Amino acid sequence: MEGTGKFFVGGNWKCNGTKDSIAKLVGDLNASKLEDGVEIIVAPPFLYISQVKDSLTAPIQISAQNSWVGKGGAFTGEISAEQLKDIGCNWVILGHSERRHIIGETNEFTGKKAAYALEQNLKVIACVGEKLEEREAGKTFDVCYEQLKAFADEVSSWDNIVIAYEPVWAIGTGKVATPQQAQEVHAAIREWMAKNVSPEAAKKVRIIYGGSVNGKNCAELAKQEDIDGFLVGGASLKGAEFATICNSVT
Ligand code: PGA
Repeated sequence: MEGTGKFFVGGNWKCNGTKDSIAKLVGDLNASKLEDGVEIIVAPPFLYISQVKDSLTAPIQISAQNSWVGKGGAFTGEISAEQLKDIGCNWVILGHSERRHIIGETNEFTGKKAAYALEQNLKVIACVGEKLEEREAGKTFDVCYEQLKAFADEVSSWDNIVIAYEPVWAIGTGKVATPQQAQEVHAAIREWMAKNVSPEAAKKVRIIYGGSVNGKNCAELAKQEDIDGFLVGGASLKGAEFATICNSVT
């Protein structure tokens, strides 16, 4: 834990859940014991954000998984940052690898989305990470730096941004990065921030790790100096396991 904010854990529910399964998950979260001093968010599918917001009593904030690049209007199928604020959602995940590599969103588009979301007073979880072939080609740092630069080119402040380092090869694969692999990239990201944004921003920004984090591997990862939290997919769909991950720093 190096960033000066609280340890941060996000649950990215992706395109999973029904009214009933989400009611059960929220019930489990409400019943779990979450340690103080950890900032926690969950990101349900858009459709269920209001349900979660109305039923969640645990100290957990709500995030969206995406938002439109600008003001709402004639953009079929999109949700705007203003609409997210309107329903009481304060965070958004942007640049997730599934949006980059399955939907085809570019670095530039992602950077613009972040700038717009921040202007609307949303906080942003900005995701970066390399694919397996990029790691094998020794391009991990370059890919992450390029994605970071695309955010830095558009945003005027990093105060309301959490950076998520999520190696694509670790997402949903059960193949978690080793604590050393994750720490190495997190430290490099912090160094990049110091050089390219400011030493203050580098010190302050929280850099969280995502990719096959679970109740068993979280504690070792959490010990790494530059790991300030987690973005959790599959394991966030199980309330008790997610609570274990949230409590892993304490
Ligand atoms: P995973 O997903 O924990 O299922 O690997 C992480 C993410 O995509 O944020």
